[in-house]
Amino acid sequence: MNGGEIERLIHLLGRLPGLGPRSARRVALHLLKKREALMQPLSEALAEAARAIRPCSVCGNLDTVDPCSICADPRRDSGLICVVEDVDDLWAMERGKIFTGRYHVLGGTLSALDGVGPDELNIAALVRRVAAGGVREVIVATNATVDGQTTAHYLAERLGEFNVPLTRLAHGVPVGGELDWLDDGTLATALKARRAL
Ligand SMILES: [Zn+2]
Repeated sequence: MNGGEIERLIHLLGRLPGLGPRSARRVALHLLKKREALMQPLSEALAEAARAIRPCSVCGNLDTVDPCSICADPRRDSGLICVVEDVDDLWAMERGKIFTGRYHVLGGTLSALDGVGPDELNIAALVRRVAAGGVREVIVATNATVDGQTTAHYLAERLGEFNVPLTRLAHGVPVGGELDWLDDGTLATALKARRAL
């Protein structure tokens, strides 16, 4: 049917989250039809992002500079660290403009089912940040899922020796809810009403 390029494109698109084989075929066809308006600009944006964007060596955020622009911003409170599961949660917090501290991105949650242990997550770097001193509060903003809760309790154990207060977002956050799905008002309320972990 073709030299394999279309199959390769469909296969790669099908590995994106939320795209099954059928939607991957639809997206591939759409791209091929919109070669100049969409496919070429997209491929350039992908190449540029792959070249320029790196995880921040301090917090795990994604940016073109390292340390990232949040870690490097002197106006942001370095004594307040908000721990999030992934960068989309950080984006949700930033969209709400409700948090003036800094972040730590874990890169996921502990999961017995998926075989994710502490070493697979960005936890050692968090322990080092807290051990270095100057942190007044760690806000654990992992999601209200079973894995999110497990991760929060694990962090409380690991950070227990440093005598830094740990807090958790209040449960206006729906169980199983992810930060990215919350409207900014709900997220602001959950942050304000945070409580000891
Ligand atoms: Zn950073």
